[in-house]
Amino acid sequence: MLPMTQNVSRLRVVIVGAGFAGLNAAKGLAHAPVQVTVLDRKNHHTFQPLLYQVALAVLSPAEIASPIRNVLRGANNTEVLLGEVTGFDLQRRLVRTDKLEFPYDYLVVAAGATHAYFGHPEWEQYAPGLKTLEDATEIRGRVLLAFEQAEREAFTSRVTPSLNFVVIGAGPTGVELAGAISDISRHYLQHDFRSINPTQARIILLEGGPRVLPVYPEDLSASAEKQLREMGVEVRTNALVTGVEPGLVTVGRGAETQRIPASVILWGAGVSASPLGKMLGVPTDRAGRVVVEPDLTIPGHPEIFVIGDLAAARFSENKLVPGVAPAAIQMGKFVARQIRRSVAGQPREDFHYWDKGTLATIGRSRAVADFGRFHISGYFAWLSWLFIHLFFLIGFRNRVMVMLEWAWAYVTYNHSARLITEPKEHDREAAQSKMKAG
Ligand SMILES: Cc1cc2nc3c(=O)[nH]c(=O)nc-3n(C[C@H](O)[C@H](O)[C@H](O)COP(=O)(O)OP(=O)(O)OC[C@H]3O[C@@H](n4cnc5c(N)ncnc54)[C@H](O)[C@@H]3O)c2cc1C
Repeated sequence: MLPMTQNVSRLRVVIVGAGFAGLNAAKGLAHAPVQVTVLDRKNHHTFQPLLYQVALAVLSPAEIASPIRNVLRGANNTEVLLGEVTGFDLQRRLVRTDKLEFPYDYLVVAAGATHAYFGHPEWEQYAPGLKTLEDATEIRGRVLLAFEQAEREAFTSRVTPSLNFVVIGAGPTGVELAGAISDISRHYLQHDFRSINPTQARIILLEGGPRVLPVYPEDLSASAEKQLREMGVEVRTNALVTGVEPGLVTVGRGAETQRIPASVILWGAGVSASPLGKMLGVPTDRAGRVVVEPDLTIPGHPEIFVIGDLAAARFSENKLVPGVAPAAIQMGKFVARQIRRSVAGQPREDFHYWDKGTLATIGRSRAVADFGRFHISGYFAWLSWLFIHLFFLIGFRNRVMVMLEWAWAYVTYNHSARLITEPKEHDREAAQSKMKAG
């Protein structure tokens, strides 16, 4: 039986995932003559571009997340339900969660992407990646705890232990993480400890390819590497990671093998699409993204759209639409419009991606920005990054809070979110003993 809130006379749209793509699809359908159900395994939308600020204790989780129910409360035709989608029945037009089935007339799958460990899922426990708020607080705990343990050891033994942070992968996330650890150790924590000197921490950024930020133009990659080095980050390119274990990262093979001791290892190397993509039973690319038609539907199913990071969509010159927030937002809005058009009996349109440029932040007053013909580095790129992220952050309260936190941290060199909430001492003790042995 349908719940009270469902209007049986209307076509049913089920949206899986309330990230940038799904949320914008839902917003675009808010006043359309359809009944919308949004399913997400979390009760909140996470503003992923600011996750690393939570991971490195600049912001608190609540400042970069908003309850989905709250974001969509003005949409009277929309029901938000918490639940993990486990599969689909395309013939019977059903979405499955572990307990319930949801019938649809239109389905929008926007379940995003997750970490990929290149066939080594066992590395994840030693080198967490950054995708969710839980990941961010886990990383925050590991980084802060490493400083605490070093202080305790130096205090009790009078010997200063080495403090190595190894970040694997120099894409935007790895660069952000390495830069932020540098900021923390060189600026924000420098006066907080008595027995260790946090500015002596080593930050090593490992990249398997020949340059950092490989998807950016070469001049911006070079600028990013220069800025990282100025911040004290050791950048190692062509450094293919072949092993990750507690307290140790192995690079290369045979005679070339290097073993790098690490107090904390962080993963920024690879992503793969949500497994829900493969469950649709249509072709996917190597990263598991669903190859979609020009209107973002899947072959043979004009009623099923796949959008956001989960979609392999092409735009001009056969380039792949990048896995970034503006692309997901544009896809979400586009799909809402196509559903409205179909309901009104109008033909479908093709999706056109508007590339507004990309920015990667590196640290305090440092970033690179690629605006097509205009490439900017340093302070002005960072200012652009700051204002664009504030502008897109969901919720007025969040915007104000984040602006205040940033201003406070910038002026005072002080972060307020330096809390360790779930210390897992045993892992760190194992890492410490490996560090000493190494
Ligand atoms: C650390 C980090 C930094 C980034 N920085 C930037 C940046 O600076 N600029 C930029 O443009 N982009 C950035 N990105 C990329 C950007 O965040 C993504 O492109 C964007 O979030 C994709 O949106 P999406 O809606 O496709 O997926 P997501 O935002 O990942 O949303 C997917 C949603 O689906 C839900 N979900 C997944 N599986 C299920 C399931 N089985 N059942 C129910 N719900 C499910 C999830 O809970 C989530 O809410 C960054 C990403 C990360 C991880």
